[in-house]
Amino acid sequence: MIHRKTPEEIEKIAAAGRILARCHEILRRKARPGVTTAEIDETAERFIRSQNAEPAFKGYRGFPRSICTSPNSMVVHGIPGRYRLRRGDILSIDIGVVYDGWVADAAITHPIGNVTPIARRLLRSTRAALFDAVEQCRPGNRLGDVSHAVQARVEADGFSVIRSLVGHGIGRDMHEDPQIPNFGDPGRGPELEEGMVLAIEPMVNAGDHHVRMGSDNWAVYSSDGSLTAHFEHTVAVTADGPRILTPWHEVAGERGGAAASLAG
Ligand code: MG
Repeated sequence: MIHRKTPEEIEKIAAAGRILARCHEILRRKARPGVTTAEIDETAERFIRSQNAEPAFKGYRGFPRSICTSPNSMVVHGIPGRYRLRRGDILSIDIGVVYDGWVADAAITHPIGNVTPIARRLLRSTRAALFDAVEQCRPGNRLGDVSHAVQARVEADGFSVIRSLVGHGIGRDMHEDPQIPNFGDPGRGPELEEGMVLAIEPMVNAGDHHVRMGSDNWAVYSSDGSLTAHFEHTVAVTADGPRILTPWHEVAGERGGAAASLAG
């Protein structure tokens, strides 16, 4: 059952999303060689709480930290800790924010200093796949149009969409219906209607699409050890088309930052 949101409810998710976007910008600046993922997590939690908001992931099914930090071959759900960033790493940062009872969710994968050409291409492709999918979030389209947009871009670029991890509806709960696979056929699945709010999140391996669970039962890795990337926005389907509620791509700094250099 897909809960449609009123315009007022969408504004509440957007308020959470603005805090989230600013948090991403702070963490983008923080994520440098020599910094640990625990330090990045502490910065995130301090900022989110300073905004009278809460980190959505903390305590979620027992998750011990405020954000997920997933370097290199780790896809998602990395627990921040002692890992110290190195030049040439890529680091996925996933943040959830609850504000006034409404949740927003968004992720970015950052290059840490100069990265290899393949890493650069992987980040560019995954980011572009996200924006291709967002473009499909219009009333009258089908969920399969969103899924297919991700798959088409990623596979054209020679990378693999992870099959076993999906995006999701979002609102009062972080994970609502529908599930949003990153592969599928255009014209299939539920019709998109005004008021739906979707967390769209391409997760892409440079190698094949298989993943494995880590020993902490949280972190998910590419099975072949290849690099992997994750970009996510929370998006409302409106009569005027897609509205991105977590505008990390518009926050000051991104334009001149590393993520912008990948946008082309
Ligand atoms: Mg999500």
